[in-house]
Amino acid sequence: MFDYRAAADLLQGRVILVTGAGDGIGRACAISCAAHGASVVLLGRTLSKLEAVYDEIEAAGYPQPAICPLNLETAAEKDYDDLADQLFDTFGKLDGLVHNAALLGPRTMLDNVKNEDWQQLMQVNVNAPFALTKAMMPLLRAAPDASVVFLSSSVGRKGRAYWGPYAVSKFALEGLMQVLADEQDGTSEIRVNSVNPGATRTAMRKAAYPAEEPEKNPEPSEIMPVFLYLLGADSKGVNGQALNARD
Ligand code: NAP
Repeated sequence: MFDYRAAADLLQGRVILVTGAGDGIGRACAISCAAHGASVVLLGRTLSKLEAVYDEIEAAGYPQPAICPLNLETAAEKDYDDLADQLFDTFGKLDGLVHNAALLGPRTMLDNVKNEDWQQLMQVNVNAPFALTKAMMPLLRAAPDASVVFLSSSVGRKGRAYWGPYAVSKFALEGLMQVLADEQDGTSEIRVNSVNPGATRTAMRKAAYPAEEPEKNPEPSEIMPVFLYLLGADSKGVNGQALNARD
């Protein structure tokens, strides 16, 4: 596991938005950030799941979160701008942005991928993170040392047969990360990095490997050290890096 032990108050006073916060790794990330003192903005497409995470954070006595129901497949530029306005009014800044939500999509030979499936996946996995990041830039600049984290994958770092648009979308996110990181280098205090979580016990992993024993892989809560490291002040100056949640 990534070797980092977060101080209990690591994220005190920070505002962190997590996409796909209702389930899997995003849910664990939101709860872990809140447990370390952050006010988290829970963005996702299924309101009931976001409400369950909200309730869990509130019941634990962590800072009050905010809920943002948004479907990244259909969200338009105005939705992102409206969200930025709301966050500006409520918090005045954004210290962390975790691009976690993603679709797995069809896993088959590229010949067999339907164009509409390709486009749907690129909309959620690539176009939405671009549009959301763009809208959040003024809020990220308003924070003293903001951190943007893109969720990648092993197949986004080395192509593999039958991983289709999912693999290509993760390569695109690595590219988005690198270009954005280079632009911020020396021009702002914003750092931009990617994380490959590795095999993790979630619904997406089960869909990709239905025959696998789920217990073989760690729970999302076990892979949080790298996220806490990147979102807290200990990673100041770390920029443009492709990290792994596990060694
Ligand atoms: P997951 O269990 O499928 O959770 C994905 C989350 O994204 C869910 O909360 C889902 O919302 C949300 N989401 C999907 N489409 C959305 C949309 N159109 N609008 C808003 N939210 C949407 O996946 P996971 O395993 O936690 O994966 C999290 C990230 O890690 C992904 O980027 C994935 O590619 C990456 N990753 C995972 C693994 C692994 O082994 N699990 C390995 C490598 C990389 P609903 O719950 O409402 O559907």
